[in-house]
Amino acid sequence: MGDIINLLPDSVANQIAAGEVIQRPASVIKELVENSIDAGATQIKVIVVGSGRTSIQVIDNGKGMSGTDARMSFERHATSKINEAKDLFALSTMGFRGEALASIAAIANVELRTRREEDEMGTMIEISGSEVETQEMVQCPKGTSFTVKNLFYNVPARRKFLKSDETEMRNILQEMHRIMLVHYDVGFQFYNGSDMVYDLLPGTFLQRIVSVSGKKTKNISQKLMRVDVETSFVNIVGYVGTPDIASKNPSQYFFVNGRYMNHPYFRRAVMHAFERMLPSDMSPMYFLSLEVDPSTIDVNIHPTKTEIKFEDEKAIWSILAASVKESLGKFNVAPTIDFEMDNSLDIPVQTRETRQHVPSSPTVSYSPGYSPFSYDADKPVSAPVPRDWEKAFEILRKEEPEGSVFVETQEKEQVIFEDHDDHKGDMLVYKNKYLCMPMKSGLMMIDVRRALLRVEYDDLCNTVGMRQNVSQKVMFPDVVEFNAEDLCIYTEIEQDLSLLGFEFRALGKYIYSVDAIPGQLGEGVDVHDIIDNMILAVKEKGGDVGEELRNIVCLSLAQTVSRNKMNRVFSEEERQGLVGRLFQSSNPNYSPDGKKIIDIMGDEEIEKRF
Ligand code: ADP
Ligand code: MG
Repeated sequence: MGDIINLLPDSVANQIAAGEVIQRPASVIKELVENSIDAGATQIKVIVVGSGRTSIQVIDNGKGMSGTDARMSFERHATSKINEAKDLFALSTMGFRGEALASIAAIANVELRTRREEDEMGTMIEISGSEVETQEMVQCPKGTSFTVKNLFYNVPARRKFLKSDETEMRNILQEMHRIMLVHYDVGFQFYNGSDMVYDLLPGTFLQRIVSVSGKKTKNISQKLMRVDVETSFVNIVGYVGTPDIASKNPSQYFFVNGRYMNHPYFRRAVMHAFERMLPSDMSPMYFLSLEVDPSTIDVNIHPTKTEIKFEDEKAIWSILAASVKESLGKFNVAPTIDFEMDNSLDIPVQTRETRQHVPSSPTVSYSPGYSPFSYDADKPVSAPVPRDWEKAFEILRKEEPEGSVFVETQEKEQVIFEDHDDHKGDMLVYKNKYLCMPMKSGLMMIDVRRALLRVEYDDLCNTVGMRQNVSQKVMFPDVVEFNAEDLCIYTEIEQDLSLLGFEFRALGKYIYSVDAIPGQLGEGVDVHDIIDNMILAVKEKGGDVGEELRNIVCLSLAQTVSRNKMNRVFSEEERQGLVGRLFQSSNPNYSPDGKKIIDIMGDEEIEKRF
């Protein structure tokens, strides 16, 4: 037997290693732009074509490279930023692994043009799949320009793994926002093809926040409160939004030493400072930049991770919470606080649960003539709802696979329901939240909200699937304004939205008028809120779960519809209608977000209580 161990060729090893650093077009942009910043650039121009699949170009006016350095920069572990291992711990530049360029060159066609101020001629290098194809002297401006084409051209599996153009673009914009926000002293131009998305002049942090994140909120600069503290181990500067611009999906950014970080623990510190000023489903906007001694943090967890470990985590938490609170007080948002406090005076201990009841006061309007449970006779897609839903239930019971709530009762009884002709008197509504119905073997309880969610969701999915949307024109159309990232999401779900019955009319690049909404929504709904919710849902779930966007959109809309319908008292007929529709739905046991709809309290369990 011969030897069987081979060394992988360099090109293959490089490709494998590249996957760690470069996962998608956005990673290329992050690495290149961070390099430009490290090179002292004050102007950075990024041009993206085909959401980065076709090409990505990053041009800077930084210090440039010599011919030798230009060639060296593509070697693995080539970096000008570390000389000794101990440097690793005192690093303040962005990248420090010397892996990025080697990785990019392994999986794309790269062209580099670079010139230092002191050199008369610059260098041009072309490299593909880690092979240098050209190196020559050229005339070029001072600074560096990277062009990365055909990303993953030699790793088809990776290329296939990329998401839709809109999703990739959204990731790119997210990465750009993170970098542009904290490097406000650098000018940025960002092009999507020939379309200029950002043209940002160097300025202050506040100016940068306004030009990157300000599109959605009017007069945002007056609604941002400055935070500024210096302590012996952390300095914090930045801005938090006033409580009145809090939203379900606000911009929230932490930076440490000029780098974006994800820090759920610190996020809670900010939330803590806002406690009792916001309804439980609202979060504050914030842009907070922390400066610490680099030796007290560990950024070396993973090259693409944004989590960072701090030595003084607890102390920083307290300082963060205290300084945000102080800013809130300083900027005289006291009236808001007093108002909220007054409201809660008669609640002795204000826990999370009690708070959640506060916003549920009847502020949602609905049209009184609109009957939520009755299925519209003129809606052709819905099958007739059987008046004798117990039959439907029985059929279902027999078909139900193992593990469902029905299995337990299945063996015990052949016929579940008492032999009544008329169950009307038997359906009890408990707190307008649960329907309780006696069965032969126990008591069935149905969570009304979840049942509604199930039937509305099924209904919307059918509507979209069969292209039978019931659209209603709005008398006074709402105007919505997207930021660049949300616009990507909108483009992605545009078709589904129109199948659902939405009608958008472009008024500008980011501004749309909503001329019609799905018939299910009824009148007096908050269109902004609905659209915000859908975009947030896609943002949260669409990226990683890989769930179909259409389902996410339908679920979000069904949540709105069912929430609105919960705000009234149901008639007996409506209740019957709901139960009927539930048992005809695709899954009466579980709501589309996976929560239990039906529970049965068995006879034994009931008897045990006495
Ligand atoms: P790292 O940034 O971790 O050092 P990279 O692979 O990203 O590793 O870059 C390798 C080296 O190439 C850098 O250390 C730097 O010396 C040089 N370099 C990369 N991009 C630029 C640029 N835009 N301007 C000047 N030098 C650059
Ligand atoms: Mg780098």
